[in-house]
Amino acid sequence: MEYLPISSERSCVFRRCLSTAREDGKKHRKALFCISVVIFLQAVALAGASAQDSVLALTEAEKDFIQAHPVISVGVDPLFAPFEFLDNQGNYVGIAPDYLALVSAKTGLRFEPAKDVSYAEAQEKVLAHEMDLLPTLGWTEERERQFLLSQLYYELKLALVLQEESPIKSTADVRGRPIAVQQDTSNADFAFKTLGAGVSIYKSEQDALLAVADGRETAMLGYLPTVLYSIRDFGLSNLHYITFDSENNNGWHMGVRNDWPELRSILNKAFAAITPAEKAEIQSRWIRVSDYGERQRMLHLTVAIVALLSAMLAFALLKTYSQKKKFARHQQNELILQEMVRQRTEELQDQTRLAVEASLAKSTFLAKMSHEIRTPMNAIIVLSEMLSMRDLPSDALEEIWNIKQAGIGLLSIINDILDFSKIEAGKMDVVDADYMFRSLIKDVENMIRPRFAEKPITFVTNIDSGLPGRLRGDVVRVRQILLNMLSNAAKYTDEGTVTFTVSGSGQENGKILLSFEVADTGIGIKEEDMGKLFGSFSQVDHQKNQHIEGTGLGLVISRNLCNMMGGEISVRSVYGKGSVFTAVIPQTVLDERPFSQFADIGEAAWRNREKRNIGYTAPKANVLAVDDSKVNLKILKTLLQPYKVHFDTCLSGEEAIVMAKQNSYDLIFMDHMMPGMDGMEATAAIRGLEGGKAIPIIALTANAISGMREMFLENGFSDYLSKPINIATLDELFATWINEGLKVKNP
Ligand code: ADP
Repeated sequence: MEYLPISSERSCVFRRCLSTAREDGKKHRKALFCISVVIFLQAVALAGASAQDSVLALTEAEKDFIQAHPVISVGVDPLFAPFEFLDNQGNYVGIAPDYLALVSAKTGLRFEPAKDVSYAEAQEKVLAHEMDLLPTLGWTEERERQFLLSQLYYELKLALVLQEESPIKSTADVRGRPIAVQQDTSNADFAFKTLGAGVSIYKSEQDALLAVADGRETAMLGYLPTVLYSIRDFGLSNLHYITFDSENNNGWHMGVRNDWPELRSILNKAFAAITPAEKAEIQSRWIRVSDYGERQRMLHLTVAIVALLSAMLAFALLKTYSQKKKFARHQQNELILQEMVRQRTEELQDQTRLAVEASLAKSTFLAKMSHEIRTPMNAIIVLSEMLSMRDLPSDALEEIWNIKQAGIGLLSIINDILDFSKIEAGKMDVVDADYMFRSLIKDVENMIRPRFAEKPITFVTNIDSGLPGRLRGDVVRVRQILLNMLSNAAKYTDEGTVTFTVSGSGQENGKILLSFEVADTGIGIKEEDMGKLFGSFSQVDHQKNQHIEGTGLGLVISRNLCNMMGGEISVRSVYGKGSVFTAVIPQTVLDERPFSQFADIGEAAWRNREKRNIGYTAPKANVLAVDDSKVNLKILKTLLQPYKVHFDTCLSGEEAIVMAKQNSYDLIFMDHMMPGMDGMEATAAIRGLEGGKAIPIIALTANAISGMREMFLENGFSDYLSKPINIATLDELFATWINEGLKVKNP
């Protein structure tokens, strides 16, 4: 007997496809609606008609058959899910059994699955009329011959599975091409006979599918549910499919033993009576044919997008992380750098502070020390001057003169140090005052001329006689600069000429630019030493100059003073031939008349000072001198001796107040700076005493700086006198402040 070994066709495992198939909401609602309609119609039918046979319109023969054969034995394929299979409890379930149940309900026939018989045996038994029915057969010519095939009760779409890029667009295109099919199936038959394709036989539908997927085959033919399941099962993404209906091979027929035509006709009538709703219910129960490929593609697309997004996210995270790390490293480096900079800055600030403190301490020390030395030096100079005025033997006078000169030399060094310290500490001020230009020149000439007399040097002055007679500026500092330049010329010239040239230029806005030039025929300065000249403590050409005294501060002080006054000092020199120092200093013009027209005040003053012809005494005047330095008190006492005043002294502000209370003074000299109560406080206290306001109180100060006079007047003083005391100034002050009534003219 010839039959198709159908069992191989059932080898596909469909079970999982059931559990994974998800309900399509829309279809489900539709199905529910249909079911409701069917139930309603059935209820109507049950009410109106008495029996199923009347619905099926069975023939008498068919009715007889049912009566004669109420139980139909069914060949079972236990693994052909979802079409028919045995579930875990061994129940015969699936699409076909559900159809059989409906047939049973409509006809009264009972279908008995032969679970113990293999499917192959079942086929043989049906062929041999030992069994009655095979419920799931695809149409082939052979089967048509072997069995009585019922009408198609379950439609099944066929699918032509193709590669994504396949040139096959329809079933017509497969003609003459080989397509892969599962062996011994109705599909193989259909492909060959109906589609006219060449057939490549594979053991299973999956094998055929895989052959298309990996490019060995161009197409395969299978049942849509099976194909969908396999595509999903293997995760094949490069395939697509065309679904189509075939005229014959498009679903399941039931195969009835060929000697029972009544059964076939009963089945056909029952199938015809199965409503679309009943079919839909069965379909939705067991399988949902959805556009799986589309879903799969969407799934793959989604997976790809998710993967891409994940990759991007991972990349972004990685980048952020690495950037964060980089940033953190950068930040850490920056912090380290900042910390290093901070530490270094702190160190430098500390060092700078220490250096500034040290420099300030040095300057303060130098200022203090030179100040301390200046006081006794002044005493030496003033006292030797006083001595030289006495009637003494000429040899004694000469020695006194030597003492005075040595004192003056020492004082100039100390003054240099004091000036330099003041400049360094930023405490040097320019004090402007009115002065006679002629006095300045004469003073300078008179002071410097004796220096040139010591050597074979001709001192030539070349002063522009048209220069203005009265000027305003810091004459003390101008004189200091000129004396520095001229005394250097005297020091560094052994013989020849020193020319002192004074001229003026650029007179505008009431100012004149005075040019003081000192040209000598001295030792000159080497080219390489020129830059060092204006440095502190710098004495150039040591070998040549080692016997010449000096501090190396004169020029640096002069340059600073020049700059402070808005001027400049410069030098030209030829080593071995001589040098030219030029200081240009702006001064305010008060009287444009040429200085040569003015009286020779400087010289007169100079001579007067030498003679000190006072012309009166004040024996009834009570004078108090307050100073913490006994030497200063002694100097003052000596200087005031010619006036024959009553002279009291005390060493502190506190004592001064007590003495002012007890005595009535006509004049008080008050030291400005004293330990304990200073001069200002003492003065304020004395002003508060009865009659204290009327007493002339003269401040004694060692630091005559700018604004000093105003400051003293504001603080209750009547006037001030600089130390070292200038005798002429003292005489002027005395003449001004001692009451005329107390003055007794000298006979
Ligand atoms: P010092 O007190 O040593 O003279 P200065 O500051 O006045 O200090 O001068 C600095 C140096 O410049 C001197 O030591 C000397 O070497 C040089 N110098 C100054 N004036 C002259 C000059 N007229 N001729 C040659 N060298 C000079």
